[in-house]
Amino acid sequence: MAAAEGGSRLRQGRVWLRDFWSRWTGTRTFVVTAAFIFLMLSVTGALHPSAAFVSFLLLAGIAVARAIAVGETAPIRIQSRHDESTRSAFGTAPTLAILNRLPDPLFVLDGTGRVMLGNEAAEPLIGKSAVGRHVATVLRVAPLIAAIESVMQDGTARSVEYAVPVPVERYFNAFVAPIAAEGVGEPSLYLVLLHDLTDAKRVETMRVDFVAFASHELKTPLASLSGFVDTLRGHAKDDPEAREKFLGIMADQAGRMRRLIEDLLSLSRIELREHVRPSDTIDLLGVVSDVTDGLTPVAQQYGVEIAVTAPANLPRIRGDREELAQVVQNLADNALRYGRSGKRVEIALAPDEKAGRPMVRLSVRDFGPGIAKEHLPRLTERFYRVDAAASRAKGGTGLGLAIVKHIVNRHQGTLQIESEIGQGSVFTVLFPVAG
Ligand code: ADP
Repeated sequence: MAAAEGGSRLRQGRVWLRDFWSRWTGTRTFVVTAAFIFLMLSVTGALHPSAAFVSFLLLAGIAVARAIAVGETAPIRIQSRHDESTRSAFGTAPTLAILNRLPDPLFVLDGTGRVMLGNEAAEPLIGKSAVGRHVATVLRVAPLIAAIESVMQDGTARSVEYAVPVPVERYFNAFVAPIAAEGVGEPSLYLVLLHDLTDAKRVETMRVDFVAFASHELKTPLASLSGFVDTLRGHAKDDPEAREKFLGIMADQAGRMRRLIEDLLSLSRIELREHVRPSDTIDLLGVVSDVTDGLTPVAQQYGVEIAVTAPANLPRIRGDREELAQVVQNLADNALRYGRSGKRVEIALAPDEKAGRPMVRLSVRDFGPGIAKEHLPRLTERFYRVDAAASRAKGGTGLGLAIVKHIVNRHQGTLQIESEIGQGSVFTVLFPVAG
């Protein structure tokens, strides 16, 4: 019992000491410095060792007592110059620690534009030794400096957006506001809060590009259709042979527009549902068989043999049948269209695993011309094509693999593309097993 009490007291003592050591940095520095000075005094004989020891104990005791009385604060990694005024302006440790925890960069300037304080998130932007320096020397961003000057002049808070071109282009929104700080007289304080807009801008650019690409893809067949309508109304009006030929081309162009619209609609439907996990239990072999049955006439037309292999008792996967059929269809369709010179397409299903999780592997292999390495990482981007003209000539929309990627994401699967020039390509998808 007594031993247990002694143990717990020892533990408490250790905790107090650790707490003291980590929190009371000021006192810690003082005590260690005092110990060093008194040690030197006694070693050099300037002070008798016992006198040095007693004096040290006295000083250290006073320092600790003071620390306990004033509740010395935890070390704050916030950069802060006028510690006392900063603390009276923003409260004590907890407030400063909260500012430090904010994910957005934040710093405070005094009335002359010098940095008084910056949180951890601001460090990569303003540097480690920004405190005490004028903001214009730590952040050379003209629109931001101009906004700060305006706020200092008229006392009205404002926001400004700006871009930092190097090393990687980044966009920020800066909110600059005067702070009416209690206990701090003139000069006043100014808060600068930055918000990184880079990701939002990237999404916006992608959206704009997507609309531009989609309308361009639609505009070309539309222009061709209107051209032929004019031709049929004009000089081809009484030429049955030309009329037949032009009507054939118009049907192709209309088909191209239809495929593009269907793919665009699929993509937006899949994106809408991407965060909802599919709930059905699917036999992937059944899906593959249905799709390959449908592709047989095209395969025969191209002189390509489609071989499907799968083990007995292949586990079922959790999925959406229609979407899974679209994955198989798009991959097999590409293998037929781009790899038809290889004369063979192999679709294989097999059990697999990823990070200890049971999966079903679907691979679609062709023996066609293959794809150069530099294109592989970009193939799933919307409208990315190795050869746009060849893709269009083969009825491609440039959206097939983007659709595959989104469906695979929704199914929490993975997509891998391997290819060797002259050897062909393998598209492999892993789907988690149901249950
Ligand atoms: P598309 O409608 O153009 O086929 P996809 O998104 O399905 O669009 O494919 C993107 C591009 O990837 C294609 O334009 C083609 O250049 C390339 N590609 C896809 N599958 C294959 C394949 N099996 N062999 C060679 N290239 C392929």
